[in-house]
Amino acid sequence: MRQNVDAPAMRRINRATVLQFIRDQRTTSRIDIAQMTGLNKATVSYIVDELIRENWVQEIGYGTSTGGRKPILLRFNANSAYAIGVDIESEMIKTVVCNIRGEVAFKQEAVLPKLTVDGKHHWLQSIAEEIKTAIASTPTSPHGLIGIALALPGLVNSETGTIATLHQVPIQDWNIQKTLTDELKLPIYIENSANCGAWFEYIRGNSKEESLVFINAGAGIGTGIIINGQLFKGKNGIAGEFGHTTIFPMGERCVCGNYGCWEEYASERSLFRYIIEAGGNVDEFIEVPSLIHFILNEAHADNRYYIRALNTLGQYLGIGIANIINALSPDRISLGGTISQAATFILPEIERMFHYRVFPSNRETQVTIAGANSVAIGAATLIIHQTLFDQSISI
Ligand SMILES: [Zn+2]
Repeated sequence: MRQNVDAPAMRRINRATVLQFIRDQRTTSRIDIAQMTGLNKATVSYIVDELIRENWVQEIGYGTSTGGRKPILLRFNANSAYAIGVDIESEMIKTVVCNIRGEVAFKQEAVLPKLTVDGKHHWLQSIAEEIKTAIASTPTSPHGLIGIALALPGLVNSETGTIATLHQVPIQDWNIQKTLTDELKLPIYIENSANCGAWFEYIRGNSKEESLVFINAGAGIGTGIIINGQLFKGKNGIAGEFGHTTIFPMGERCVCGNYGCWEEYASERSLFRYIIEAGGNVDEFIEVPSLIHFILNEAHADNRYYIRALNTLGQYLGIGIANIINALSPDRISLGGTISQAATFILPEIERMFHYRVFPSNRETQVTIAGANSVAIGAATLIIHQTLFDQSISI
């Protein structure tokens, strides 16, 4: 489809192209930018001068001449602005402050109160307090904070700022974005956690990769999909709910109301069942603050019930991932969320499932373990990208 691009849109795209090119080089020059981006020299000069005036780019002296005048070297000013990313998973909240290269300048973790329908404002207030601490800890810079992004599991509509269900609590169309923006007097952006994780894993990965699926396996399962270098969000922004695809038509009842959803077999909550099925005891779980840490400690201490439970979970995780690979044929799968901490016990099982269930030509698809802060940093870098580097025509 042909799209008409008007002059302001073209200027925005050219500026984002130049800024991204400078970001991705250690140092560069106006002539290099013109040669590598295909933009004409006058346009590049105009944009670079504007970026220098606005402190996004710095001149750092002269390079070596290749015949003519010595070129002036340019460097991206990574500390010219910051963004805050917040990851909410189960009862944990992780907050990071990143510079515009995505380097972490500050991070903190805290436990959130339990979310209930009646206590939702108290819950959100605790999130606001964490963000206020992060704002106070943001280094001073020419542009200050360019955005705050909140990553949430569940059905998140980033266009409307609303969320439908969260932590298995039915909260129909709660406008978290507006409530938090009113409280903090700063614009807030909300996005699905798995989308944020997918974005970060994609930008920090091999530049030849075009597609990637991030699996956020914890209390539930969310998936974020990158296709051709873009987040795929589908209608209403809620694509990627592979966690609620049916793997057993007559299976366990899921929190979504359906039966036999994948996340009933491959998320933290299935571990209770697997431990009991293996002959273990789950009474001791009642007061455990972090389920996965407790289970991992037991498994590392050679508790065979726990090892068997983790192996079973790995097999079901493998079945779902095989379905995703057969459907989307991505370059890579990145596994994040609390379950990924059990990589030693689950990765061999996932690979075993690949052998039986993935098309031979896709069996080499890599499954990598995501960094612990991928979702929080992903939220921050997603808003940085949308503000400074997005070269798409549609906004
Ligand atoms: Zn479900």
